[in-house]
Amino acid sequence: MTTVKAYASPSSTENLIPITVERRAVGPHDVLIEIKYAGICHSDIHTVRGDWGPQQYPLVPGHEIAGVVTEIGSAVTRHKVGDRVGVGCMVNSCGECVNCQAGEEQYCLKGNTGTYGAVDRDGTITQGGYSTHVVVTEDFVVTIPEGIELDVAAPLLCAGITTYSPLRHWNAGPGKKVAVVGLGGLGHMAVKLAHAMGAEVTVLSQSLKKQEDGLRLGADHYFATSDPGTFEELASSFDLIINTVSASIDISSYLQLLTLDGALVNVGAPADPLPVNAFALIGGRRSFAGSMIGGIPETQEMLNFCAEYGIGAEIEVIPAEKINDAYERVLASDVRYRFVLDTATL
Ligand code: NAP
Ligand code: ZN
Repeated sequence: MTTVKAYASPSSTENLIPITVERRAVGPHDVLIEIKYAGICHSDIHTVRGDWGPQQYPLVPGHEIAGVVTEIGSAVTRHKVGDRVGVGCMVNSCGECVNCQAGEEQYCLKGNTGTYGAVDRDGTITQGGYSTHVVVTEDFVVTIPEGIELDVAAPLLCAGITTYSPLRHWNAGPGKKVAVVGLGGLGHMAVKLAHAMGAEVTVLSQSLKKQEDGLRLGADHYFATSDPGTFEELASSFDLIINTVSASIDISSYLQLLTLDGALVNVGAPADPLPVNAFALIGGRRSFAGSMIGGIPETQEMLNFCAEYGIGAEIEVIPAEKINDAYERVLASDVRYRFVLDTATL
C-alpha cells in the first residue's frame, strides 16, 4: 500500500479538504498511474452533495483522469511504464455478463465498479482522481494518443465518451440535425464531436451569453430556451437531441422539437424525475432515451477519433485550493467549459 495526497469531501455539506488516501499495492494485472490532471464533472458535485443518495465519507471524487504509468504488474500487457493513459468513470466490472462481453462494461449486469464511492473487489471504497496516484486494473486503463495534451484529454474520459457514445449510437453524421441542450462540460464536447461527425449542430442554452463560444466550438445555430419563440421556431426539426442539463427541465417541450422518429437522449442526471407528456412522444413516433458513459473499447475509439480530428476539451486549469470555488461556478453554469485540477498542486 502507498499513502498518497488527495482532496476529499468530508460530508455532503462541507467543502472539500486535503487528505491522504491509501492505494493498494500493484497486483499482477494492475497499473500504477501518476495522475497529472483530473477533470471536475458535475457528477462529482451531485455525488458528494448526496443528490444521488447517501455516500461514505471522506470521499475523493474525480473520474476524468489523465496521467502517466509509473509501475506495472507482472502480468500486464496493455500498458508499459511511461505510457500516457486515462481512466474514466469505472475501474472494474464482472467481465463475464453479456454486456461486459460486448464491451459495454458500463452496463455490467452485476454493476460496474465506479472510480470513486464504490465497493472495490477487496471490499474497500474506491477513491477517485483528485489525487496524485491511482492503481487500476489494466483493462480499465485506456491509451491517450500522441497529439492530445493530457490536460485537455482528461475531460474526454467522462464528458467526451458520455456524448460520443449516444452520438454514435443514434447515428449523428452528415444530413442529421442534432441539438445539444446545455453548453457546459458535456454539452461543449457534444458540440465538438457532433460537428466533427458531420452533423448540423444547434445549441439550446438558457441564454445567448455563450453564443459566440458555441459557434466557435462548431455549432451551426444557437438559441436561447428562455425565449418561448425558440420552441415555436424549432418545432419538429431535430433528428437527435442530447440533453446534458444537470437539473430537471420540461422534457415534453423539447420532445416537440423532434422530427418524426427523432430521439431525445438524456445524459443529464438530475436528482429529480423528468416527467414526460405521452402526447409529446406519440405525436411524432418519438423516442425518449438515456445513455451512460461508454464502454472501454468505445472510450478508446473516442480518444482515437479526438486525436484524428484534433479535439480536446476547452479547459480552465485550477490548483487544488480552487476546487470549492470551481464547484460553485459549475453550479452557477459559469464554467467554460471544464475545470481541470492540476494534481501537482495537491
Ligand atoms: P455542467 O458543466 O454543469 O453543464 C450543465 C449545463 O446545463 C450548464 O452549463 C447549463 O448550460 C445547463 N443548465 C444547468 N442548470 C440548468 C437549469 N436549471 N435549466 C436549464 N439548463 C441548465 O455539467 P456537466 O458536467 O456537463 O454534467 C451535466 C449532467 O450530466 C450532470 O447531471 C451530470 O451528472 C450528468 N452526467 C451524466 C453522465 C452519464 O453517463 N449519463 C456522465 C457525466 C455526467 P447553459 O448555461 O448553456 O444553459
Ligand atoms: Zn463525469
